[in-house]
Amino acid sequence: MAYKISQSCTGCDICRTQCPTGAIKVKDNQTWIDPNLCNNCEGYYPEPQCVIHCPISSPVPAHGKKGRYKLNERPATSPDLFADDKTNPFASSIVIWEACNLLAQGLSLPWHTDASGKFCYQRQVRQGQGQVDFWLTDRFDTDSTDTLSADKAQATLEAMDIKATCLHLIYAAHATALEKPWQEEFTVNDVQIENYLGLEKRTDLSKAAKLSLIKQLAQQPCQISIGAHWSKQGKVPEFSIPQSRLWHLQPIEHHFQEDKQGYKHLVGLTFRVRAGIWAKYFLNRQGCQNRTAFYQYGNLPQSLLSAVISNWQHHQGATRMMLWLLFKTRIGKRQRITVPTLMRVAYGEDKLLRASSQRDERKRLVRTFETDLEVLSHYGLKPVFDPVTYLPEIQPMWAKLGELPDDADAALEFWIQDGNSNRRLTDAAPRGKWNLLMKARILWFELKAEWEHALTTVEPNKVRLTKRKTKSHSFILSGADVIAARQRNKLSQRDLAQLTGKSQSWIRDIEKERFRIKLEDQRLLQEVLGLAELSSG
Ligand code: SF4
Ligand code: SF4
Repeated sequence: MAYKISQSCTGCDICRTQCPTGAIKVKDNQTWIDPNLCNNCEGYYPEPQCVIHCPISSPVPAHGKKGRYKLNERPATSPDLFADDKTNPFASSIVIWEACNLLAQGLSLPWHTDASGKFCYQRQVRQGQGQVDFWLTDRFDTDSTDTLSADKAQATLEAMDIKATCLHLIYAAHATALEKPWQEEFTVNDVQIENYLGLEKRTDLSKAAKLSLIKQLAQQPCQISIGAHWSKQGKVPEFSIPQSRLWHLQPIEHHFQEDKQGYKHLVGLTFRVRAGIWAKYFLNRQGCQNRTAFYQYGNLPQSLLSAVISNWQHHQGATRMMLWLLFKTRIGKRQRITVPTLMRVAYGEDKLLRASSQRDERKRLVRTFETDLEVLSHYGLKPVFDPVTYLPEIQPMWAKLGELPDDADAALEFWIQDGNSNRRLTDAAPRGKWNLLMKARILWFELKAEWEHALTTVEPNKVRLTKRKTKSHSFILSGADVIAARQRNKLSQRDLAQLTGKSQSWIRDIEKERFRIKLEDQRLLQEVLGLAELSSG
């Protein structure tokens, strides 16, 4: 009864020290199991230690499993997420958002060595009123916050799997179901995770491969540790969070099924997880009611998880943008976003810099960006191009073709008109497209139903803050402001009327200050005229 090591082995060497018989060896950088020494851990442990300690459970019985995988008794889990098959509340504070960025964007983020010599990613919010620091820790199954050195942290970040963002979001969703998530654990097993990620339909993956993948993804978010400092906001007093785990993962429970030859096959995994102490400050329902903490959550569309799993390989940029927009759109539906900001999220600052100086790189990046926008559109995040800065001639071809009427006669008329115009739909992009794109903006993303739903729930604190803010900002816009901004954007009153969906006479009246502009109309004008970028903190 011997085990063997599958091809997925990363050579981390963890298993070798755990083997009680010294059967695990390394030769020519290959880890292998000596069948003459491996005895299934008989007489030492009830379960094969190499399977349990391997981060991806790479060792498998030398003989493949026959028949179905079944597990009669599984430990009880927390209730399933996505009871309505579409969305589930999830913790969405800046801590969760930035940890999601860390898992998705890795080394593309501005990491640096901090004052104490630790490799760190820092995020400041609200003009320095708050700061969250992130580090990577050595092991995921202990509560130690030993920080990885710069070299090891970089190697770990490079090996991070963007799919681990899904597990991070699943944890953030399970945590919202608990009254005090920093004290209570939730339990989730491989079957639930398979369903959440849509892996149950993947017939190309064996059960062993799925378990290996799930184990790997479940651990990665637990390697992150955070620290934060927040100055007083409203009635919530100043607080500091010392360096501590983002998620505390208890030892993973491995479930085995023994076959007639005595081989123990891994057939299930159970994870018990507790949110870090950050949740006491950012996911504290009671504290929020008492105005001593925040309770920040949004709604997580299940379709996002399956979209990440389907697209990460071929459209990594689209996947990163999708994850980022999950949080960004929560701040407010109409979020003006510049093309460079989106490109930074999708491809990182370095690629953007290379593209600005190398023509071929530039062409490739624009092509990829346009395809990625199409992918987003396909998954229900349709960009609305700013007609002032993102002119039709620099818009992607798929977006222009989207304007084609379905009716055959109308389509013919469309092409005739197109042929008679100065610029045709199929004309090559104008010279200087890159420079124009660097100034272009997307006004907002039209969202599909479950994403829209994600915006309907806002945490109580946010509502209060928003109300206070809007009151204090009432009647900011004067007629002169509107005229000046309109002229800066080279818009006629008619153009502005079209962009805002208002009549030309309404624009004329507000410019002459014939009435007070309603609050929602002020916001609309601010967005269309680029008068105020909404806070992203
Ligand atoms: S099953 Fe046990 S004895 Fe065999 S290689 Fe793994 S740890 Fe060693
Ligand atoms: S612990 Fe797993 S991945 Fe690491 S060397 Fe052993 S088999 Fe390979």
